[in-house]
Amino acid sequence: MPERKTALITGSTSGIGLGIAEYFARQGANVILNGMGDAAEIEATRARLAQSCQVEVRYQGADMSKPEAIETMFAAVAGEFGGVDILVNNAGIQHVAPIDEFPVAKWDAVIAINLTAAFHTIRLALPHMKQKQWGRIVQIASAHALVASPYKSAYVAAKHGIAGLTKTVALEVAEQGITVNAICPGYVWTPLVEKQIPETARARGISEAEVIQNVLLAAQSTKQFVTVEQVAALAGFLAGGDAASITGAVIPLDGGWTAH
Ligand code: NAD
Repeated sequence: MPERKTALITGSTSGIGLGIAEYFARQGANVILNGMGDAAEIEATRARLAQSCQVEVRYQGADMSKPEAIETMFAAVAGEFGGVDILVNNAGIQHVAPIDEFPVAKWDAVIAINLTAAFHTIRLALPHMKQKQWGRIVQIASAHALVASPYKSAYVAAKHGIAGLTKTVALEVAEQGITVNAICPGYVWTPLVEKQIPETARARGISEAEVIQNVLLAAQSTKQFVTVEQVAALAGFLAGGDAASITGAVIPLDGGWTAH
């Protein structure tokens, strides 16, 4: 990176987001962590990254389902760093249930965190990026932005929405040095995946071992989970100079899942 950038990664207290935050810190970017979790653990992560990478690392605990909290977070980042140069929309939740039993509050939460939050972060990040004539927006979508699975109606709807949002914003800002792309991972072994195994077992009436073999890895042709490091490396590439001509792309990173 030619100059010190500021990277905001939503949902970076765990899983893929934390891996991406670590990647950008190692590359020399200042990093804004966001997400839920134990305050002492988050502070330990923040201090470890700042110390080991010699960059500024801040934690902003905005609840991504709350537009006012997102606005407050952006105001704080603008006050300290001028704005966000690299925005990674990663925060996400899942809920697995048949559509006619899907709890309304869960539908609303999945859409708010997985889709609407990206609208808010993008609208708040763009003025600074336009002023700099440089910016990178990376959406952590999912293979479920491209194909569906039963019992994940809210998640699949939100992730397909992210694909559309990615393409639309990419077209709007293409001449201003700003790229917008979506990464579509297959199954990555993180707490989000671990948590949905019992729910899926219940919804399908099968064992947890069968969920892993016959549901999660059934379509993933490599029969391997994608790694957090692989997702972070692609996010890092998309944020770099060599990716300046990649925009509006919705990129599978799924062990061949969506090639079927
Ligand atoms: P994870 O559960 O490990 O991490 C999710 C992060 O989002 C955590 O930091 C959590 O605190 C944060 N978060 C949740 N609700 C929030 C809220 N209201 N406000 C702020 N932060 C909130 O999950 P993960 O597997 O690392 O998933 C990260 C992203 O990757 C999600 O968007 C997910 O849909 C996507 N994804 C995951 C996989 C996978 O197999 N793990 C596959 C494809 C896409």
